[in-house]
Amino acid sequence: MAKQVYQCEYCGMLHTTKANAEKCEASHIIVKKVKEHVYDLSDKPKYPMKIKCEMSNGQVVVYYRKAGIM
Ligand SMILES: [Zn+2]
Repeated sequence: MAKQVYQCEYCGMLHTTKANAEKCEASHIIVKKVKEHVYDLSDKPKYPMKIKCEMSNGQVVVYYRKAGIM
């Protein structure tokens, strides 16, 4: 019989108990809100080149677009 496993919805790690999976999910800092979209006007600005995000812990973090569209 296959063993039941629980997967963290953020990092994908597998856990043997639901409680551990929920603890893993609670440990991740996630994006709460995109505060600013910054476009590179020389690069057909359809998508932002960077975004400033307010995270679940209150910090503001900047993310840059590395590649195309997934
Ligand atoms: Zn996780």
